[in-house]
Amino acid sequence: MDGCLSERVLVLNRLWQAVNIIGAKRAFSLLFQEQAKVIHSEQEDFHVLRFTEWIDYSISHQSSNGLNCIHTVRWEIRVPKILLLSHYDRLPMKEVKFTRQNIFERDNYTCQYCRKTYALKELNLDHVIPRERGGKTTWENIVTSCLRCNSRKGNRLPHEANMFLIRKPHRPKFRPFINFVLGSDLDESWHTFINLPKNKLRQAG
Ligand SMILES: [Zn+2]
Repeated sequence: MDGCLSERVLVLNRLWQAVNIIGAKRAFSLLFQEQAKVIHSEQEDFHVLRFTEWIDYSISHQSSNGLNCIHTVRWEIRVPKILLLSHYDRLPMKEVKFTRQNIFERDNYTCQYCRKTYALKELNLDHVIPRERGGKTTWENIVTSCLRCNSRKGNRLPHEANMFLIRKPHRPKFRPFINFVLGSDLDESWHTFINLPKNKLRQAG
């Protein structure tokens, strides 16, 4: 393994819409699991290749400088520029990060005790089971609380303060991954897929 692992790979969904940019490691993992195929651009044509076909192509087109390649014991496999997902019509899903902002979003900026919606500056995070009593900082034990309810509850369990959660906190479901940073080092073959207006991208399928 070498520097080629820093290569970036554009990912298209089944409708050939650009949905993500991933690293080489993740790209190979998708290929190994047959969750994606390689889109290889050659003379302004796009060919869809299965992973085995891509390995054959890599072997028959060994690059002289060893760039953009994964070296295995016997041969080198090129890092593809573009992948086509086999299963997704929609955007691939991504785990929601455990952050203050995302907890507020999960709870819809609503205090989970008094049920009222507040501006960000009036909201706080509350450990349902207080930390001092072994409560963990997890999706299941942190809720959005207004400042007032937060200080009223203090270091007590909700029922000890005669307060009740409006619903049980849970870990949010995966949500679509749509944001990716293009940066400046765009591969030429990507332009077809990322510079077109959306309606043209749809027609490409
Ligand atoms: Zn409240």
